Amino acid sequence: MSKDKKMSRWGSEVLSVPVVSECWERTVQAESIVIVAHRSPDGDAVGSSLALHQHLKAVGLQSRVVLPDGFPSFFNWMPDAEHIVLHDEQEAEANDLIANADVLWCLDFNGPKRTGQMEEVIRSSHAFKIVVDHHLEPETFADVLLSDPVCGSTCELIYGLIETWGQLESLSVDTAQCMYTGMMTDTGSFRFNSVTGNTHRILGHLLDCGVNQSWIHEQVFGSNRIAKIKLQGFAMSEKLMVWPEHRTALIALTQDEMKRFDCQSGDTEGLVNQALALEGVEVAVFMKGSEEGHVKMSFRSKGDYSVRDLVAAHFNGGGHRNAAGGIMQNSSVADAVDYFESLLKEWMPV
Ligand code: 5GP
Ligand code: MN
Repeated sequence: MSKDKKMSRWGSEVLSVPVVSECWERTVQAESIVIVAHRSPDGDAVGSSLALHQHLKAVGLQSRVVLPDGFPSFFNWMPDAEHIVLHDEQEAEANDLIANADVLWCLDFNGPKRTGQMEEVIRSSHAFKIVVDHHLEPETFADVLLSDPVCGSTCELIYGLIETWGQLESLSVDTAQCMYTGMMTDTGSFRFNSVTGNTHRILGHLLDCGVNQSWIHEQVFGSNRIAKIKLQGFAMSEKLMVWPEHRTALIALTQDEMKRFDCQSGDTEGLVNQALALEGVEVAVFMKGSEEGHVKMSFRSKGDYSVRDLVAAHFNGGGHRNAAGGIMQNSSVADAVDYFESLLKEWMPV
C-alpha cells in the first residue's frame, strides 16, 4: 500500500478550494437548487443526494432531489426520502424542476446518459451544473467537474466538499446517516480496495456525530422480504452457472422468473457478489431480463481484472474496474448468456 493512500486527499485538485468555493457561492445565491443522480439509484446515489440535501437544509438552504426512477424500499428510512421526485412517476414536475433550476448538482454519474429519460432535460437546462462523481472517464457536460475515480463513493466526496467549505460543525445526524449509507453500500461494507485511512477517519467522525451504524446495516441488509430470500435461493440453486476453467460465474434471471417470485426493486441486489464469493471465481455476472426486451447486466471482478473494459467493449456500459454494468438491447436472456459465453475464451483465457 502506498504511503499517499493513507493521507487525506482533500487538498488535491479534485476538491480545489477556489472551485469548491465557487460551487458554494452559486448554491447560496440560487433560488432553485436541484440534486439529481443516476437511474436505478443505489445506496450511494440516494445517500449522496439526500446527504447534500440534508446538509443544505441544516445550513438553511432549500433543495429538491429528483431521481430518474424508484429505489429499493430498504432506503425508504432515509430522512426526506419520501419527498424525492421520481421522473418516471412525476415527469412534468421533475422536468420542470430540472429545467428551471439555477444550480443543478449531478451526483454519482459520469454522464447524463446514466440518468435515462432525464438526459435531455439535464443537458438543456440552463442551470449551473456541478458534477460530484467517482466513475471513470467522466463526460464534460457540466460547469464544474469534481470527479475522483479513486474514491470509494460519492458520499465520501460530499463529506470532502462539506469539509472544504469549512462546515463540518454543521454536520447533522441526518446528513451523516445518509452519507454513511452510501459509503457502506459502495464499498461492500468497507471491504473494497477503495477504502482508505481517510474513509475510516470520515466514518469515525460520522459515528461521533451520532450515526447508528448497526441500525443502518440492519435496515439495508437485515430487513429482507421473504420473497426476496426465496428468489435469491432459487437463483443460487437453479440458475448459477460456473465455468471453472475461465474462473467465471454467472446468474441469469428472466422476467418470468422474477415475476414468479414477486421480484421488487433491490431484490436481486447482492446476487452478483454471492457469485463472486465462490472459490476460484474472479469474474461474476448477473443478468436480468426486462419488459422492454433488453437484458441488464452487472459485472464484478477481483483484483486487477477490469470488467469495465469487458463491458465497454461488448455490453454498451461502463463503471469501475471491479464493478461495472451494461445492457444488451433487443435480446433474450438466453441469447445474452450465449453471447457472454462466446466471449469467455478471449476475455478469460484458460
Ligand atoms: P451495478 O452492477 O451495481 O448496477 O453497477 C455497478 C457499477 O457499474 C456502478 O458503478 C454503475 O454506475 C455502473 N453501471 C451500471 N450500469 C451501467 C450502465 O448501463 N452504463 C454505465 N456506463 N455504467 C453502468
Ligand atoms: Mn457510487
